[in-house]
Parts: sequence; structure tokens; C-alpha cells
Amino acid sequence: MEEFLTFFETVPSSTRSVFLVSGLALFLSLEAIVPLFRMEYKKIQHAKLNLTFTLITLLINLIGASFIVAAVDFNMTNQFGLLNITTLPLWLYVILGLTLLDLLGAWFIHWLEHRVKWMWRFHIIHHTDQNIDVTSGLRHHPGENIFRLLFTTLAVLATGASFGLVMLYQTISAFFAALTHANIQFPKILDKPLSWIFVTPHFHKVHHHFSLPQTDSNYGNIFSIWDHLFSTTSNIEMQELKYGIDTHMKQSEHSNFKNLLMIPFQSYRQPVGTKFDD
Ligand SMILES: [Zn+2]
Repeated sequence: MEEFLTFFETVPSSTRSVFLVSGLALFLSLEAIVPLFRMEYKKIQHAKLNLTFTLITLLINLIGASFIVAAVDFNMTNQFGLLNITTLPLWLYVILGLTLLDLLGAWFIHWLEHRVKWMWRFHIIHHTDQNIDVTSGLRHHPGENIFRLLFTTLAVLATGASFGLVMLYQTISAFFAALTHANIQFPKILDKPLSWIFVTPHFHKVHHHFSLPQTDSNYGNIFSIWDHLFSTTSNIEMQELKYGIDTHMKQSEHSNFKNLLMIPFQSYRQPVGTKFDD
């Protein structure tokens, strides 16, 4: 276990890039072999748009890595954070660390993005995608990248996670983003029981249904336990799924890079079944 964490602590960025590209290639192949839906769309154009957002995300995270490193250093020097209150067996440290990082750095910020109007304006970009596939996972507005980064840093501070643990968490998180958005058939017999603990492909796709209440549910990133605990789950049959967000269903709006960047600054549109008071 010790070596396992050290591996994630020391893995060079070249190896990390190889992981990322081969993961993407694996899911793209599976989408071609066992697609969940036969979607009529320009896959290359769609991928170009989403991968542009992905590249911006990676760039912001590269710059933001210094915040996370600073938070880890602070924890180490001051023995700060929940995980450092007492000495835990390593397996418990890893499990507790991953679940808490996931709660504070992913579930909570995602839930907030659906509750706070100005955050929602940025998060809409992720929901405008009407063809959810592996490239949709990191389609986020740069503004959203910044407040997500801030919450990851806060989560590292609060938990007191070590650098190896943070890197392990980020790797699993990226894998889940790809797995849960990929347009692949996932056996129902596995999906259902796994979804009690983990965010499974079907569990997350419900979140991409175009209207409420499904849009405001299933916020989890790696672990679905937080949605079960806070009663924020909902369901819909996969055949009834319609991707997108009811406020931005026009092709010209959700497939244009410039327009997507501008959405947070355009006049606000109320989703059907209104989620905000004014
Ligand atoms: Zn969302």
C-alpha cells in the first residue's frame, strides 16, 4: 500500500499523459463497439469542441497545481486536517481520504453549482451537451474550472491529504469522468448494485437528462454514497433519456465555442420547473 501511494506521488507527467490518452482511446473504441445509443451527430466536430474545453481545463489545473502543492505542504508542516488527527492504518487512511476528498472537492461543489445561480450560469455549459460521450467528461467552462480548483484545494486542506493520496484521487476521478460519460453499454446487472457505492454510467447519465428534477440529482463524482446519504438521487429509464438542458436546446447555441464561453454573461434563462426564485 505504501509503495502504491509512493507510485502516485512520483509518477512523471509523461506517464500521466500516456494514461490519459490511452484511457481516451480505450473508451472511444468501446463507444464504437458497444454504444449505449446510436447517436446521429458529427462525432469529430463534437470531440473537437469538447476537447478544446478539456485542454483549457488541463492548462488551468496545471497552473493550479501549485495551490494544491502548497495545501499539502501546509498540512505536512502543521499536521493539519482531519486525517492527521490520529494515526490511521494505511488502508483506512486511503479509503477515508478518497471518500472525504470526493465529498468536499466534488459532490459539494457540484451540488452548490446547481443551487447558486451565478455558479449555475457557468455549470450550464457542461449540461448543454446533447450527445454525451467520453469527451463530455471534462467539458467545463474555464470559470467553473477555477472555482472547482479552489474547492479541491480547500478539500485537501480540510482532509490533510498527502500528495500521493491527492494524485491517486485525481487519477481515479479522471477515470470516472471518462467511464460515466462514455456512450457505452454497461451491464444493468452490474450497474444497479455498484450504484449503491459508486457513480456508475447509468447513475450519472440521469444527471444529464434535459429537465428537472433529473438535472438536479445524482451529483456524485466517484462515490454515489453522498447522493444516497443526502437523498439527492433520482432515476429515469435509459430509453427515456434526453440529453441537454431545456434552456439551451438550439444547436447554434450549444455547439458554438464562443457562445458557450459567453453563456454565463448572457441574460439568464429559467429552466422549466424553475429552480431559482427570481
Ligand atoms: Zn451538473
